Amino acid sequence: MAATVIDGKAVAASVRERVRGEVEELTDELGRPPGLATVLVGDDPASAIYVRRKHEAAEEAGIRNFDHKPAGSISQEELLDLVNDLNDNDEVDGILVQLPLPEQIDADAIVNSIDGAKDVDGLTPVSAGLLARGEPGLVPATPQGIMELISSVGVDPEGKEAVIVGRSNLVGRPLFSLLLGANATVTVCHSRTRDLGEVCRRAEILVAAAGQPKLVTGDMIRPGATVIDVGTNRTDDGLVGDVDFDAAKEVAGAITPVPGGVGPMTIAMLLVNTVTAARLRHKAAATSGR
Ligand code: NAP
Repeated sequence: MAATVIDGKAVAASVRERVRGEVEELTDELGRPPGLATVLVGDDPASAIYVRRKHEAAEEAGIRNFDHKPAGSISQEELLDLVNDLNDNDEVDGILVQLPLPEQIDADAIVNSIDGAKDVDGLTPVSAGLLARGEPGLVPATPQGIMELISSVGVDPEGKEAVIVGRSNLVGRPLFSLLLGANATVTVCHSRTRDLGEVCRRAEILVAAAGQPKLVTGDMIRPGATVIDVGTNRTDDGLVGDVDFDAAKEVAGAITPVPGGVGPMTIAMLLVNTVTAARLRHKAAATSGR
């Protein structure tokens, strides 16, 4: 039987609807809307599109945008000053520095300078450390979206064999912590994994995040598995994932398409993170009597 195709757009729409309600409540509570600052350095067209989509989604949810577009020639110090100003701005709850940054900039140093309480991309060592320890904090949007997609088809990771292909800080590593936190038995594969097919065939939940078109073939899928395809590879045949979708959907229980699967979730979860950051900061300020 062919797999259920998971509709990422529909799941993302329901998350965005939920966020809209939460933003309304929070705006009453804070006396101002939650604020999201974006920093887009230079004029990379793909980055400009991503940031524009984030602005539109934030605005639609009732979140206030703080839009910063420094020139591509900005120095490390000037960019650090900008991030520090945003760290100090009480109306900004979340800060997102769009990557990649120009080569004169040390991107790690910039990301690490973001106040952990405003790190809506979840990429600072503080956020990564909290997640690895299983403590509350801000979680990168893509892996968080993947967890929503898995639960959208009624799959509970508890006790299941989960396999992730890819170990990046953006996807594979944080997803490992999330699936482990949900009590799955998790294996992480990478470019040195000896027999990828053999490991993937164990997976009741299989997540492919390698950036290699159709790396995961139909014979690597365990019958009935939930397959999440994170890959976005531009090829002569258009945008394709890391999974051979046509073959995999004949074996899997549920599968995400590319496009229309994980992609739409990423922006929705950024909005969730902005609301979470605003709540946590408000709570911290109330506790400290500010
Ligand atoms: P990345 O930083 O390039 O990491 C890729 C990972 O895959 C690495 O850990 C690498 O192993 C592993 N890998 C590469 N080739 C492999 C192979 N043949 N067998 C097994 N493992 C292999 O990529 P990323 O940032 O995590 O992104 C992965 C993909 O997801 C990309 O296509 C990206 O565009 C997409 N993505 C999509 C979204 C979305 O919102 N839809 C968000 C984020 C990323 P090593 O560590 O050994 O090198």
